[in-house]
Amino acid sequence: MPVVVDKSKCIGCGACVVECPVEALDLIDGIATVDPAKCKDTGSCVKVCPSNALTLNAQPAKASAEVDPEAGAKIEFNRNEPLPRAVEAYAQDARKIVSTQVEPAKGDIWSGVWVVIEYNRGEVAPVSWELLGEGRKLADEIGCELCGVLCGYNLEQVIPEVFAYGAEKVYVIDDPVLKDYRTEPYAEGITKLVRKYQPEIILMGATAIGRDVFPAIATRMQTGLTADCTVLGIDPATKLLPQTRPAFGGNIMATILCKNKRPQMATVRPRVMKMPQRLPGREGIVVREELGIAEDQVRTKIVDFIKSDARSVFLDKAEVIVAVGLGIGSQKNMVIAEELAEVLGGTIAGTRGAVEAGWLSHDYQVGQTGTTVRPKLYVAIGISGAIQHLVGMERSDYIIAVNNDPDAGIFRVANYGIVGDLFEVVPAMTAEFKKRLQLGVAK
Ligand code: FAD
Repeated sequence: MPVVVDKSKCIGCGACVVECPVEALDLIDGIATVDPAKCKDTGSCVKVCPSNALTLNAQPAKASAEVDPEAGAKIEFNRNEPLPRAVEAYAQDARKIVSTQVEPAKGDIWSGVWVVIEYNRGEVAPVSWELLGEGRKLADEIGCELCGVLCGYNLEQVIPEVFAYGAEKVYVIDDPVLKDYRTEPYAEGITKLVRKYQPEIILMGATAIGRDVFPAIATRMQTGLTADCTVLGIDPATKLLPQTRPAFGGNIMATILCKNKRPQMATVRPRVMKMPQRLPGREGIVVREELGIAEDQVRTKIVDFIKSDARSVFLDKAEVIVAVGLGIGSQKNMVIAEELAEVLGGTIAGTRGAVEAGWLSHDYQVGQTGTTVRPKLYVAIGISGAIQHLVGMERSDYIIAVNNDPDAGIFRVANYGIVGDLFEVVPAMTAEFKKRLQLGVAK
């Protein structure tokens, strides 16, 4: 008989999904769901469930003579009995793995907050500047310097920009081998700098390049890396970097520490952190290093570069977004939101619900598995406010939410919440904005 889930107790943490040795559990709509065909009643999920939401189906206990003590995956047990040997062995192994990872911290020699500035094909990824803004706060809290790292080719015109966005020092490797991004020489170059100058914290945008090169550096340094962080901070007591990101399918926000290895490494998605003020004319120290890799030593060759026409690029730059959720009801009702977007000079977007319903393509999805946005104005229409949606839009400057459920989660992040039927409220908003914008009353 399969494991039984008490839906009223399940907090959707996903621990059981990770633990199940036969992959019989999944999170569906944030609730643990058992595939009866796969469930072998191992009980490992019951053991890890923090909210006691799982139980093994009550079965008459087998006579002890019938029980094979080595068949941990087959026997039944309850919480008050010792674990089957197979499960206990697993738990011991897990403990062993944790202890072998611990290595004494190397102390004060790891110092400074670094931001890797992504410069590729003549353009800097704006998230690099956003991270210099965040890096400034972290460096001030620790009391250390903020540095930029530039790896690429023909970098001279970028160096003053790194100072303008707040760095005190910039490490530069300028080499023709780095003209086009390739994992190997970039990872080697940055790792060389990290080994020599030993930064305490190193950040990069969670872009295609950041997601590729940072794991390669973390592996070379044998340190931890937290991808897609939404919040960073400094623990006042330990000066460690708490790195917060959605986990277990976005059902919980996990705060991760890298206690015993250096550097502490994190990537952050574009538009999550605020763009700092640019102060042209600021100066700092430039430290130049050689790459030390010849072109014929690099295994990857760039044959051609074909620019993608991915449309999602525009969403993360939009200043006004009118987003719809399942509350809009159907494709034909989209016109209500489109009219408001047009009047406000904004763009349309939606929840995963709206995308899965086929009303919008995935390019328009906001959230954890869509785009992170930070517009000046975000109008949320018929959106419940699931955590996976909120992480993608909660940093918008102003949020207006329209929902007929006064308890909808979206109201927790909204600056202005309108409880009402969207089919009445939104056309009224559109008409009012139209009137005022025409009169030049609202800007
Ligand atoms: P619902 O939750 O169904 O909400 C509809 C809302 O409309 C309700 O609050 C209702 O009160 C309101 N409503 C109904 N009728 C009216 C009316 N006439 N007037 C006013 N209000 C009305 N979701 C995302 O959005 N982005 C993601 O990137 C994302 N990634 C995910 C990743 C994972 C791993 C998982 C598990 C889920 C993800 N989700 C994501 C899905 C997310 O959990 C929610 O299911 C989804 O956001 C809900 O979409 P919704 O708000 O459109 O629909």
